[in-house]
Amino acid sequence: MRTRFSVASTLVLLALGSRTATAAEAVPVGVAVVDITPDYPVRMTGYASRQTESEGIESRLKARAIAIGGDENEGPAVLVAIDNCVIRSVIADEVATRLKTRAKLKPERLAICATHTHCGPALAVGLPFIFGRPLPADQADRIARYTRELTDGIEKATLQALANRKPATLAWGRGSAGFAANRRVLKDGKWVGFGVNPNGPVDRSLPVLTAVDGAGKVRAALFGYACHCTTLGGDFNKICAEWAGYACDDVERAYPGAVAIAIIGCGADANPEPRGKLDQARAYGEAAGSEVRRLLSARTGLTPLPGRIACRVRRLELPLEPTPSREDLVRLSSKPASEGMLARNGLERLDRGEAIPTTVPYIVQTWCFGDEMAMVFLAGEVVVDYAIRIGWEADAPRIWTVGYANDVPCYIPSRRVLTEGGYEADSSLIYYGHASRFRPEIEDRILGAVHDLLPPPFDGPRR
Ligand SMILES: [Zn+2]
Repeated sequence: MRTRFSVASTLVLLALGSRTATAAEAVPVGVAVVDITPDYPVRMTGYASRQTESEGIESRLKARAIAIGGDENEGPAVLVAIDNCVIRSVIADEVATRLKTRAKLKPERLAICATHTHCGPALAVGLPFIFGRPLPADQADRIARYTRELTDGIEKATLQALANRKPATLAWGRGSAGFAANRRVLKDGKWVGFGVNPNGPVDRSLPVLTAVDGAGKVRAALFGYACHCTTLGGDFNKICAEWAGYACDDVERAYPGAVAIAIIGCGADANPEPRGKLDQARAYGEAAGSEVRRLLSARTGLTPLPGRIACRVRRLELPLEPTPSREDLVRLSSKPASEGMLARNGLERLDRGEAIPTTVPYIVQTWCFGDEMAMVFLAGEVVVDYAIRIGWEADAPRIWTVGYANDVPCYIPSRRVLTEGGYEADSSLIYYGHASRFRPEIEDRILGAVHDLLPPPFDGPRR
């Protein structure tokens, strides 16, 4: 498909806040929603305590896409958000390969994000076990089936969004919501457990990007919030899109015909609080949704964005601490807590005849809307320190940092979190198949990649 619009006839000058006035030019924007709910029971990821397949559907899972830009120059950019705990690179790369052939979409112009709902199907990514336990063959078959259906669903959402592009103007702004709480409880500087740490850092900002057509009708509302989709606990065993899904529903009810898309920021160490009940998940969805609606209704407070997006990608290898020898692993495997669990994980890998990885593949992507705003997409479950540091070293008011993007290989702890230890630094790694923790320099490596990708106009005060 080829889309061309007369830019001159659709130039609109909008009143502006902080930065110099920018022409909001109409660009082709397409949106799509594809239902990705499995119609059969399937094991879910999120909680090790769940040992059976899902028992029913509380809310439907969606793949929601926005395509921005015409076919000229670099072509359109597409963002897809899926209601799942993770996106894995093996799936994202497969979709990118298909779309390169079928839609000439450049891989660096495709971003696939997960909402991190803990009530979505497990995905087949080569691990023969789930939460450290062997997976029964019939359950593995259904996970493999769902993984194929999800891959098709992401492709379908992208193609539909590309196909229904129509002129719209883009704008963005930033609000906030209060339900995220730092979940790392510390004593004497060390992690002691999950809970609420009122002194801990947390990013409660809620950025929103809108696409509005020539008649003033909202077509898309892309929004982010840095918080786990973990209102519901391991005792809840139904398929559910959690607060992120309820937030999208809330916005779409208020703006019929619009597509709302939720993405998650650096919320790896933040939980919605209080938590545990379905009504709370609905309430957090309404809280996020009402903030999106507030920003949409006060549209003059939003900053217009150019439709031409510069997209770049960098792949790197994040170093893990050296793996102990087999003898040391045997000795460590009897130790309590994460030390023993990681050692047993390593031994299991060796027993399966696999090598223990020494690095974790990682992907950083940036989307620059001129010099007005840059989205930084980080793979993995990224702790809040990364959003804070990127905000310091790039220019925070123009930066939107996104986590759970393009791959979720594991948690991505900061230097601070590695020093404090605990779940995000150590014990979570066993569920991702690793045998040793990250080296502290991963923080500088990731920041270095972000700086390499962002052009100088985005430099901040501490660059
Ligand atoms: Zn998580």
